[in-house]
Amino acid sequence: MPELPEVEITARRLDAALRGAQIASATAPGINALKTFDPPLAALEGRTIERVGRRGKQLVVEVSGGLVLLVHLMSAGRLQLYDKRAGPRDRTSRLLVRVSDPDRELRLREFGTKQAAWVKLLRAEELEDDEMLRTLGPEAWPQPPQDLRTLLKAPRPLHTLLRDQRIIAGIGRSWVDEILWTARLSPFKRGNDLTDEEAAALRAAIISTLDGALEHYEQVVKLPIPDKLPLPLQVHRKAGEPCPRCGATIEAVHYEDYVMCYCPAEQTGGKVLKDRRLSRLLK
Ligand SMILES: [Zn+2]
Repeated sequence: MPELPEVEITARRLDAALRGAQIASATAPGINALKTFDPPLAALEGRTIERVGRRGKQLVVEVSGGLVLLVHLMSAGRLQLYDKRAGPRDRTSRLLVRVSDPDRELRLREFGTKQAAWVKLLRAEELEDDEMLRTLGPEAWPQPPQDLRTLLKAPRPLHTLLRDQRIIAGIGRSWVDEILWTARLSPFKRGNDLTDEEAAALRAAIISTLDGALEHYEQVVKLPIPDKLPLPLQVHRKAGEPCPRCGATIEAVHYEDYVMCYCPAEQTGGKVLKDRRLSRLLK
């Protein structure tokens, strides 16, 4: 699940390795991955990679001559750099960008059966008009908006609001659990029920949690970026384990395709929230 810290460390490592590299060729073996046709991928040949950056959970590869590759990893994609070319039978390959001197391959790979990761090749001036970037909320890191109370003023649970990229960009299922736990806030608290103090605690938690993840990645993540990043998690995926802060048992709410974890003692006033999976079975 690449979220802001995972995409940020990927962008930093690729930027350091690829800035100034010349593109020899580009192909998109994943038939669904390339979402644009003009300019064609062949337009990348002979150009230079100028910068690899991040917007929300997307990677932005800036290329000389005013071209930009916008890459969304979705839930199972990775953008990795290899010294060797992908074999023709590598079914995980979605986009291959070969660079020369030294020969390397920037590869968008995707694991699992779904083909959801995508790439757009845009002209630099079209980037801001791209549907995804146009609707993106303010960045969650390094400086989330000062007035978080106004930003989140909606009758929706914090757990949903914070993952809504149109409201705030970069947070997903893993880091939202960590952030709410750090702020000692219930995932089901409504955004429009936040007090000033709670909003301030939430803002501080967003900064410290994402900062902490990135500091960790700076220490441990080297090229080639591993398929599975070592996420420094305290509560997410830790159901049944003791809370590292107070020792209470971490509880979970199961949704169709993910699990939300929280500490009942510190976040929900001791209340154990209903398991959605069970309540559906009992309906
Ligand atoms: Zn606790």
